[in-house]
Amino acid sequence: MELSPEGVRHFSRREFGGGLLARVSWPILVGLICLFVLMAPWLTWRGIAWSQSQAYDQLTAAGRDRLKLYGTALHSELEKSRNIPLVLASDPLLVAFLAAPATPDDPRKEAQAAALDRRLQALNEALGSSALYLLDTRGLTLAASNWAEGAGSFVGQNFDFRPYFLAAMEGRPGRYFALGTTSNLPGYYLAMPVRQGERIVGAVVVKTAMDELEHGWSGGGEKVFVTDRHGIVFLTNVPGWRFGSLAPLEPGVRQRIQASRQYGDAALAPLGLVLGSRLASLGGRSYVMVSQSLADGEGWTLHVLLDVEAAEARARDFGLLMVAGAALAVLVIGFFIHRARLVHRHTRELEQRVVERTAALVDSNHRLQAEVVERQRAEDEVKAKQAELVQATKLAALGQMSAGMAHEVNQPLAAIRSFADNAVTLLGLGRPEQVRDNLAEIAGLTERMARITGQLKQFARKSSGAAEPIALGAVVDGALSLLAGRLRGEDVDVRWAPPPDDLKVWGDDVRLQQVLINVIRNALDAMRKAAPRRLTISLAVDETTVRLDVADNGPGIPDEAMPFVFDPFFTTKPAGEGMGLGLSISEGILRELGGRLTAANAAGGGAVFSLSLRRAEAS
Ligand code: ADP
Repeated sequence: MELSPEGVRHFSRREFGGGLLARVSWPILVGLICLFVLMAPWLTWRGIAWSQSQAYDQLTAAGRDRLKLYGTALHSELEKSRNIPLVLASDPLLVAFLAAPATPDDPRKEAQAAALDRRLQALNEALGSSALYLLDTRGLTLAASNWAEGAGSFVGQNFDFRPYFLAAMEGRPGRYFALGTTSNLPGYYLAMPVRQGERIVGAVVVKTAMDELEHGWSGGGEKVFVTDRHGIVFLTNVPGWRFGSLAPLEPGVRQRIQASRQYGDAALAPLGLVLGSRLASLGGRSYVMVSQSLADGEGWTLHVLLDVEAAEARARDFGLLMVAGAALAVLVIGFFIHRARLVHRHTRELEQRVVERTAALVDSNHRLQAEVVERQRAEDEVKAKQAELVQATKLAALGQMSAGMAHEVNQPLAAIRSFADNAVTLLGLGRPEQVRDNLAEIAGLTERMARITGQLKQFARKSSGAAEPIALGAVVDGALSLLAGRLRGEDVDVRWAPPPDDLKVWGDDVRLQQVLINVIRNALDAMRKAAPRRLTISLAVDETTVRLDVADNGPGIPDEAMPFVFDPFFTTKPAGEGMGLGLSISEGILRELGGRLTAANAAGGGAVFSLSLRRAEAS
């Protein structure tokens, strides 16, 4: 398998999600953190200021809502008392009573006043107001709801100094908040002129206590107060604030107010409230102040003061929380950047390792391929060497056989010579018949010599290598005739019954003959000391295989030599006689032909070499 670093490069493109984060370098990261640390105080301050401003806005909005609520309550409270003097002012009984000039000790008049006292008392109780009373044009109280309260009774009191009386005498409704001169209790006075026709005959006044209203304001938790046109607090849910002033009063104003006894003996001292652009402060505390002037009163303003301490604390907490959140975010981002960098580095290392591994694999693959080529070359070389060896051993065998061969050739040559000599003599004697016989003998002998040299030529030639069906009998005959000189010289009893010509095996006659010559020569070597010498060549044939056994009556193969006889260069022969290559080459040839060469010792003594060959179909 061919491996290439391409695959690795492809893999490296598979970036992790934090690729961008991983590219943030350390200096930038550290710079960002330093910047954040340096900016933290400013950020905290901005964060707190922003959330404070938000808190003030919220408080202001809440204050407006409160104002609306308190304003409505105050309005309805004033509204409630407004109608009472209006209705009473048009009461005929009352008008008549005021219109009639008062005469001292007039019993009728006294009875009328007493009746009015009771009526006003009943009405006052029914309406829930503080006091209800009638003044004549001089400001003298003629009848009052509190007639029965002794020293607390308004009857006989003169209120001509009260602005509400003066307003009524001028024909206008008089509205007024003041401290009661008799009761010393604060209240809202509303006076209506009583007319007979066009003439003003007196005034009817209702005083409404505001303590319940004030009490109602206490539940809200904020400071609520109403100031008059001079900035003097007259209604408030803060104990001690009543009749304090928002700003120092001018001496003239103070004198006038004190003269009117509107607020009794109150010092009308400033509350000490300092008004800022956004907040008001008093006694070290800060407030959001929301104010609204009221339509009902004359220059009245309703104020609500909301303490900012809790809101400021919340804002501070929120600001700190924001900064803590930002710090956490920086840490988290830092952590993620750090992690992404780690992952990135890890991936790089992994990729590097994969690249290195792949390179090593590629390298070893190349080496392996080179080795395969080298092996192939070596194998080819071995094959070539083997072929050369085969040829060399063949030629060596030929050399060894040459003495026998010379004898084989010399014998017919000598015979030819004597036949030729005789033929010359016979010609001289005029016996042509015998000369012809001699010439025929000579022809026969040359034919025999041609056969011998033909066998030699065939043995020496190089094999074609291809297996083909060949007649096994002819191969054995050829081998025997090549060795005929030695066989005869050593007086060997050859036992061989040639098979029919159509018994064929897959093989190559040159190489098979070489194997047979090797095996037979070994047998002859082994039988040197045997007497008599017997070489038995036999066949065992079945459907697919032909086995040729070559047996001798030599000493057999020693047990210790048996495992090695087919090994190259194994020989038991003296130096110069054997190279130990014959059997190994022969075994290789048979294997190549799809057969087998095996060695064994026969039960009756001697060695048996068996050539197993594939049987070829008889043609
Ligand atoms: P070489 O004949 O050159 O020694 P071979 O490979 O032909 O080489 O034989 C190897 C050895 O096998 C011989 O040296 C011999 O010891 C043994 N051998 C071969 N044939 C026979 C046989 N017929 N009887 C006994 N030993 C044999």
